[in-house]
Amino acid sequence: MLDLVPEPVAPLTPARSTVPIADGAPGGRARGSLRTAPVARAVQVRPVPIDGGGPVPLSFSTSTRGARGKPPRHFVDLTPEQRVEAVVELGEKPFRAKQLATHYFAHLTADAAEMTDLPQATRDRLVGALFPDLLTAARTLTADAGATVKTLWHLFDGAKVESVLMRYPNRTTLCVSSQAGCGMACPFCATGQLGLTRNLSTAEIVEQVRSAARSLADGDLPGGPARLSNLVFMGMGEPLANYRAVMESVRRLVAPAPDGFGMSARNITVSTVGLVPAMDRLAREGIPVTLALSLHAPDDELRSELVPVNTRWSVDEALDSARNYFEVTGRRVSIEYALIKDMNDHAWRADLLGTKLNARGRGWVHVNPIPLNPTPGSIWTASDPAVERVFVDRLRAHGIPTTVRDTRGSDIDGACGQLAAEEE
Ligand code: SF4
Repeated sequence: MLDLVPEPVAPLTPARSTVPIADGAPGGRARGSLRTAPVARAVQVRPVPIDGGGPVPLSFSTSTRGARGKPPRHFVDLTPEQRVEAVVELGEKPFRAKQLATHYFAHLTADAAEMTDLPQATRDRLVGALFPDLLTAARTLTADAGATVKTLWHLFDGAKVESVLMRYPNRTTLCVSSQAGCGMACPFCATGQLGLTRNLSTAEIVEQVRSAARSLADGDLPGGPARLSNLVFMGMGEPLANYRAVMESVRRLVAPAPDGFGMSARNITVSTVGLVPAMDRLAREGIPVTLALSLHAPDDELRSELVPVNTRWSVDEALDSARNYFEVTGRRVSIEYALIKDMNDHAWRADLLGTKLNARGRGWVHVNPIPLNPTPGSIWTASDPAVERVFVDRLRAHGIPTTVRDTRGSDIDGACGQLAAEEE
């Protein structure tokens, strides 16, 4: 279960209300203004899933797909003290733990063949016991002339996750998954349609990072060898629903070598659909990561449809918590807003969003509208560019810093979960 929802969680059945939309294409795939349409007919906002079943239920449980074992213990799951204990238990001297950590976090390797400062038998024994293979690359797709690489990973139990590495002129960014599938059931998201399989372990998250960092260091992407500078928890899963493993992985990312990769916390973004108790807890961690709140609608009526967890924590509660994060950490919060054609891209919604943000002060937030990366077989699609421009202009007119995010890799099933969905 989610370990940060304070009370027994009230039944989180997503709202099933309907909203009127203008009539259009047959088969219920009509689109139109939610506000201006004369009530032609009521159509569920939530689309019929590809498998023809009912709406995907909101779920915090990690046991939705039958019994899944825990991933084998990995060196990265252990604290520095536990690593020492582990190597001693294996009959080795304590200093071997530091050597292993240096290889992993500084040299970005878990390959015994590369650990030539350790005797052959020692490294074989330690690597065999402490570095199980957790991720196997099943598919790799590239886009943007090789500057974007998306990898589908198979985990030890057959669960599937994805990560996407993107190289820009002045930075490199890795988007990692924190769960296999996702229990948040956002209807426009391929991962949300998979449901939740299980939480990833700390090492399963960090292994995505090490693999990408090694690939960059080896010069696999055009432009020569590079360091991984930025990381976003925006792949499969709701990061704050797997709080403990995500925070442990953040600690590994920011710890200086040899105990971690030495990344800047400011260059790490943790996204959430608005699990308010977890957001408040994150604010108290003392690690100034960037918080990104996936809002997608400023009004509860629509947001409860687009982001079902809104039925538990409302727009205002999520925004209050986001503002609190800024006050506690001093870090400006990002509001993510997937612009979905004729669904949430109305100018009045931009005005409402601007009003709600300004009601909580100035200078604490910026908004990233994101043209939706459509999921195959879905009614959800990106807003028209002209509509997007109006939406952005309205927000800016309220004095809200607003930057449209680029959508890297849209020609390689860039929306999270699409590769995994194809394999289901
Ligand atoms: S949008 Fe994010 S939180 Fe919602 S279902 Fe997809 S992965 Fe989960």
